[in-house]
Amino acid sequence: MGELGAFLKIARAETPERAPGERVGDHREFVRTLPLVELREQGARCMECGVPFCHSGCPLGNLIPDWNDLVYRDRFREALEQLHRTNNFPEFTGRLCPAPCEAACVLEIDEGNAVTIKQIELAIVDRGWDEGWIVPRPAQRRTGRSVAVVGSGPSGLAAAQQLARAGHDVTVFERDEAGGGLLRFGVPDFKIEKRVVERRIAQLADEGVTFRFGVNVDGPLEGFDATVLATGSRVPRDLPVPGRELGGVHYAMEYLYGRNRAVAGTAEPEISAAGRHVIVIGGGDTGADCVASAHREGAASVTQIELLGEPPEKRPDELTPWPLWPMKLRTSYALKEGGERSFSISTTGLSGNGRVQEIHWMQNTGAPPFEPVPDTGESHPAQLVLLAMGFVGPEAGLLDALGVARDARGNVDAGEFATSVPGVFAAGDARRGQSLIVWAIDEGRRCAAVVDAYLS
Ligand SMILES: Cc1cc2nc3c(=O)[nH]c(=O)nc-3n(C[C@H](O)[C@H](O)[C@H](O)COP(=O)(O)OP(=O)(O)OC[C@H]3O[C@@H](n4cnc5c(N)ncnc54)[C@H](O)[C@@H]3O)c2cc1C
Ligand code: SF4
Repeated sequence: MGELGAFLKIARAETPERAPGERVGDHREFVRTLPLVELREQGARCMECGVPFCHSGCPLGNLIPDWNDLVYRDRFREALEQLHRTNNFPEFTGRLCPAPCEAACVLEIDEGNAVTIKQIELAIVDRGWDEGWIVPRPAQRRTGRSVAVVGSGPSGLAAAQQLARAGHDVTVFERDEAGGGLLRFGVPDFKIEKRVVERRIAQLADEGVTFRFGVNVDGPLEGFDATVLATGSRVPRDLPVPGRELGGVHYAMEYLYGRNRAVAGTAEPEISAAGRHVIVIGGGDTGADCVASAHREGAASVTQIELLGEPPEKRPDELTPWPLWPMKLRTSYALKEGGERSFSISTTGLSGNGRVQEIHWMQNTGAPPFEPVPDTGESHPAQLVLLAMGFVGPEAGLLDALGVARDARGNVDAGEFATSVPGVFAAGDARRGQSLIVWAIDEGRRCAAVVDAYLS
């Protein structure tokens, strides 16, 4: 284990970040890692509990105490091996995971004191890349069986890598011009630079995975022994209010796809926040990425509004006690860079002359059924309105063409990853609904194990 009693004398160190006022001027990543000595001290704080709750907090079951201890002992290469045993892409989760493991850390019983697990994970894997320890690991034995994976988001990539390493011939079909799914075209560069996604895709290619970009799959794929649907949950929730049809009102993903392509230099964006009063409707990750992107474009103002009421500042033990994920107030990285946020807001309409100019809203009661509070109507300037209210489910086209059954929420019904159509499997957001990268990787891995057993 780490150093006996270290957690009593060493305080948790938060992840270093570039100063908000500086980072908002570019698109480079803003998260930094601690110097090596301090990082090892943080690893020493792990108590290697008899029952490590962090294991069950992490959807991948990452072997957290093992690698915390190895980092403390400066044995990074072994730590990397441990990390890769459960997680194909720790550089994705080390940058982007909300870290439910830390919420479940025993030290978090004293709120705000958890071992800084996510930061240690990122340091291990980034060092692995820097040192050249991460290399292709092609299968030693080929099975002669073939698998088509539709979608190259984190679930499709994880499934593809696991299946290729099991010796199957894997082809990934992706309708976008490049791989990564939401990691590439949703999440902005300042959260994950695209070279980080690219080098993993190159590793998969070197392990024998074939990528076919720019291919929209719209029916059964011939010539494969199995198909994995990893198409994500891409149908956005709409806002049925008067004025929704005005110019300047867009789904968040339309804006973020455009921003990612603009930053990559591959296309001119059709939607711009520059010089405009921007309203972002929705308080989650997608909304935060819109707020931060609009700031980097030089918006006149950015306001994020949320239907739900303001959560408590501290973990509400009566609702979400340790080790559960606490439903508490969080201020996104984006709002640290500027902008306003309002809770308990119901949008009542949008107005303008062909193009949106104002948004109209009322306060609500902050909880279902979100009754409007009388005499609270307000209007605000709005020249770009971005709808970031989540996703209702996977797109129907391919699923209907294949005839796969759906569950009550419209997701692919694939309890143990097999769908109702023999030889067709599903993983990631398409199966569980819009979720997290860590879950997508976990789904891809578990789905691959089921497909491997099917092919064997
Ligand atoms: C803006 C935004 C920010 C986010 N930020 C975070 C974050 O910080 N941390 C976190 O943990 N999670 C975050 N998430 C959630 C996370 O990105 C997703 O849960 C995850 O990417 C799901 O992975 P997936 O592989 O299932 O699907 P996706 O990443 O959606 O990938 C699906 C892929 O399938 C392709 N595809 C779909 N249909 C077809 C077809 N018919 N033919 C060919 N290809 C097809 C799509 O083009 C896409 O590339 C964010 C989501 C959004 C929208
Ligand atoms: S993947 Fe997420 S939950 Fe798992 S150890 Fe890493 S940060 Fe924690």
